[in-house]
Amino acid sequence: MTEIKEILFTREEIQKKVQELGKIISNDYKGKKLILVGILKGAVPFMADLMREIDLDLEYDFMDVSSYSGTTSVGEVRILKDISTHIEGKDVLFVEDIIDTGLTLSYLTDLFKSRAANSVAITTLLSKPKRRKIDIYVKYIGYEIEDKFVVGYGMDYNEKFRSLPYIGVLDESILHK
Ligand code: 5GP
Ligand code: MG
Ligand code: MG
Repeated sequence: MTEIKEILFTREEIQKKVQELGKIISNDYKGKKLILVGILKGAVPFMADLMREIDLDLEYDFMDVSSYSGTTSVGEVRILKDISTHIEGKDVLFVEDIIDTGLTLSYLTDLFKSRAANSVAITTLLSKPKRRKIDIYVKYIGYEIEDKFVVGYGMDYNEKFRSLPYIGVLDESILHK
């Protein structure tokens, strides 16, 4: 695709990374009541691949929040769709495509602790540590990346590029159109 100027992670690299994360999570959550909570819409491909690499009985659900518009974060987190599963006493693992400022997951972590989850942790395929505005602990990170705007494997620019099987960097010229 011509709008993609650089491929950061190929389909094969992502698959290997997700398998590694799945193995570690399977070990860590043995005997626990794991529930994966995916953040719509970006986490859908990661969620679908990761759950099938976790060799445990688990539940999963989704939330939709708004905290991002265009290419810059805004502070406020709004819940557009909540989970429909009971989480009291369960071990919640949030599944995110990319953590940037950390504001979204910091808010959701606090919210779920107040809902009496047994534990609350986060996995993200990508993380941009330099962009953090709030210090949050991310238990499982696929890759740390530089401050570049990426798309593909669930991640969009104005709803485009989510279905790409790889992760790429957009040509800056399209960001300002
Ligand atoms: P934050 O951590 O700033 O609260 O928000 C993270 C969310 O912003 C991510 O889940 C993702 O939806 C969006 N986001 C952050 N960085 C990027 C990026 O480089 N590309 C895309 N497509 N979305 C991003
Ligand atoms: Mg996201
Ligand atoms: Mg987006």
